[in-house]
Amino acid sequence: MYRKYSVIANTAMVKIKETQMSIESVTVKEWKGKNQIRLVVKTFFAGETEIFREQPLAWVREGKYENMSAQWDLVELLLSNSNLRREYIDYNLKSSRLPIWDADDKNILENLAIKYRTARPKIKKIYVSIVTNNITCIYEKHVKRQGYGLFQFLSRANHSCDPSACLAPGDVENGGNAVIALKDLPPGSEITYSYIPKGVLEQNYVTRNLILMIMFGFICECKRCQNEVPASLVGVDQVHYFSDLKGKVSHLPLEDVIELYAQTI
Ligand SMILES: [Zn+2]
Repeated sequence: MYRKYSVIANTAMVKIKETQMSIESVTVKEWKGKNQIRLVVKTFFAGETEIFREQPLAWVREGKYENMSAQWDLVELLLSNSNLRREYIDYNLKSSRLPIWDADDKNILENLAIKYRTARPKIKKIYVSIVTNNITCIYEKHVKRQGYGLFQFLSRANHSCDPSACLAPGDVENGGNAVIALKDLPPGSEITYSYIPKGVLEQNYVTRNLILMIMFGFICECKRCQNEVPASLVGVDQVHYFSDLKGKVSHLPLEDVIELYAQTI
């Protein structure tokens, strides 16, 4: 759903930070160990809606060719620009398990390894990080064309099925993506948003988590999920269960998967 967006190869745009982003309203905190970091609100936002806004370090545009991945274009962008690559690596963003890896990915990796004379594990590491952390953005605002960007702060916001905020993708050249509060957020509140579209967020526990496993390779542990675990899954190894389920439905389009599990409880 997210991954195989087509892009025009070699037309990736570089947007290096020209101005220091304003992020006084939030702070980055360690959570569950040093590699997992979350965004929390530093000040109280009574009456305010926009928590902060951020421009991407780099972004690529959605293009017109099938079977090309925007994530690989971002990888190539970083391989071709060492300053950009260093800055992105310094972000020290977390990566999840490798979500999807097929013959196309293998071929692209081989080509990039030869073209940029870079070790395959190094490229794969960048790819996994980008797959985990790229976020939809908008370019050519007047026609709202969708691109994919790398963000220092936004990428640290965790998913929740009962999110405290939502993402408002904005013009990459003019302000970038905004984070909008959905609730009153006292100081210290965690900023979360839903990684899955609204239609999926409205689905039951099994559907939501199956889609999260397919798209992002994790199971959600938000409060809503904790409250909605079906009795049949209490005490069950969830990662194992959903990985198994993913294997069974991986040949289906996501819309069919959602329909298939819409009736489960
Ligand atoms: Zn959840």
